[in-house]
Order: sequence, then C-alpha cells, then structure tokens
Amino acid sequence: MHRQSLVDYGKSLVATEAPTPEPRGSEVLLRVSHCGVCHSDIHLQDGYFDLGGGQKLDVRGNRPLPFTLGHEIAGTVEAAGPDAKGVTPGKFYAAYPWIGCGTCGLCARGDEHLCNAPRALGITVDGGYATHVIVPNPRYLLDVEGIAPEIACALMCSGLTGYGAIKKAMPHLRVGPLLIVGLGGVGLMGLQFARALTDKPVFVADIDSAKRAAALKLGAAEAFDPADAGARKSIAKAAGGGVGAAVDFAGSDKSLAFAQAPVAKGGAAIVVGLFGGSFTLPVPMFPLRALTIMGSYVGSPAEAREMLDLVKAGKVAPIPVDMRPLAATSTSLDDLRAGKVVGRVVITP
Ligand SMILES: [Zn+2]
Ligand SMILES: [Zn+2]
Repeated sequence: MHRQSLVDYGKSLVATEAPTPEPRGSEVLLRVSHCGVCHSDIHLQDGYFDLGGGQKLDVRGNRPLPFTLGHEIAGTVEAAGPDAKGVTPGKFYAAYPWIGCGTCGLCARGDEHLCNAPRALGITVDGGYATHVIVPNPRYLLDVEGIAPEIACALMCSGLTGYGAIKKAMPHLRVGPLLIVGLGGVGLMGLQFARALTDKPVFVADIDSAKRAAALKLGAAEAFDPADAGARKSIAKAAGGGVGAAVDFAGSDKSLAFAQAPVAKGGAAIVVGLFGGSFTLPVPMFPLRALTIMGSYVGSPAEAREMLDLVKAGKVAPIPVDMRPLAATSTSLDDLRAGKVVGRVVITP
C-alpha cells in the first residue's frame, strides 16, 4: 500500500510503502477513495496544540512513526476478517473515525469519541492518507448512500463536530435564540444543522464580511461583526434580552469572551474550536448568571448516524471541495496552514 506518512513532527509528510494489511478477526480493509484534509492534522503534524501564554499541549503521545494521518475517510470494502459480519465487498462507506477501546464506561454508554484509550483512525492508529486503511469492526462503517463521496468523508469530522455542538445547544434554546460565533467550514455546517433542528432564530458572528454574507444566505436571522464595539449589546437586543446558547466554533480567548457575553441567565456557551488561548471570568458570574460553559468534541457514533439522516434528507448544502492526489497531501496541509484553502481539500488516493 502507498501512504503519505508523518516520519517526524514538524516536518513534511513523505511517501512510504508498506505491505497491505490483512484484516483479522472483525477487521475490515477499506480501499480509500476519499480522505478529507482537516485543520487538526496541522496540529498533529506539529505535535502540539497552542494553549496560549506560550503553553503547549503535547500531542505526540506514543504514536509510532512513520504514522499515517487522515481521519475523514470514505472508501470501498476490499476484504474482511472472518468475524466481520454484514459487510459486502465492493460496497462504499464512510468510516466513523472516533473509535474507542470498546470496553470502558464511556464506550459502553455510546460515547466512544470521549474514550481515554482511543483507537481513532488517523489520530492514534493509522488513517486515510493511504490507499488502504483497517477499520476494526463493521459497526464503524456508515451507510452514506445518496451522499457524494467527497462530501461523505468530510462529514465524519467537520460535519459531526458541527452537529454534536448544535445538539448540545438545543435544550438551552427554551431560554432564547441561538448564536453561532465563527463561520468557517464547521460553523457554516453547524448553522445548517441548527436550521434543520430548530425554528428559533439563529444569529451569527464573524469578523469576515464574506462569511457573514454566506451565513445570511444559508438562513441566519441576523449577522454581527465582533470587531464592532456595539455587537454584544446589539445581539442581546435582537435576542430579546440574551441568547439561550452560544456556540463558539473559533475557540480562542477572544471568541469565547465574545460568545458568552450575550448568553441569557440559565443559558450556555459551548466551546468547539481549538484555536487556543485562555479565558477568565469572575467566579460569581457563574451562579449569578446560572451560566453553563461546556466543551464539545466531535460526536458519538449515534450522532453520526443522526447527522447523516439530515444530510440524506437534503438539509445541508454541499461545501466546495478541491480534490487532489495522494502525493499532494503534504502540500495541501501547507496550503491549509497558510490559509490558502477555500472549502475542503479532499485527497483521492
Ligand atoms: Zn478533523
Ligand atoms: Zn473506551
């Protein structure tokens, strides 16, 4: 099999060859047809996340090098182990990548994406910047019939991240409308899921006027510029006092400070983005505002299926996709790092 491998942190990926693995037990071998290039791959390539104030979160862990990144995977079944039931060779699937140990309490309650001993594809075990990938069990193969393959793969990360966050916001909308802060790919995806899940107005905020315009086209009720000094007050006013939930898809100190400000009493701010930084709020504000601040990380296998149902029902407009060959993986990461990518780059090995 051909791969584009991480051989050293902070360095470009390089082409490597390895014997094509043979699926054992319940494993399934997928022939990768599409693998989306995600912003978090840049952090994995660096080996750390920026925590602000010069602090770094080391994510090098005990990942064996060379390692194959790529967690937004779709492809066809090439072979299956003797215990892999219900898989048809040649059938096309998206692979749910956020795989857990399968035995701990978190996995038992269906939250495999939060498992502390993850086997996440392209994160802790070899992923999809390759011609082949091993998926440990057919239950992680998701039916994406009717969805374009280059869209189906990207849904496993950006789509699921948007859906998982918006779902957490839903119970808080009895308090007031929804605010979405940060209108990159995940934010715009989140906006569309929100429009599918609630009739409440959805307000949006981003410093980029083109992104605000795109969000208004997708049905946002009103768009605000966080750089505008009066924006927080304007949002609270438009929301009739405050928003029920604010979802921060940027995840910086500035964006969270902005997002939580117009949250009404009893409401919630949900942090999704991983931009970095640190944030302070006077402790008495939590009880006085009955404020919840929570994090959201991708989504569970059940949420992935719910999300796919919404997409199959035509509730989500396709994102612009730029398809490139396997050999272009490393330069694609460079382009993403340089902010030179519009929409999603998808590798077609
Ligand atoms: Zn991702
Ligand atoms: Zn587990």
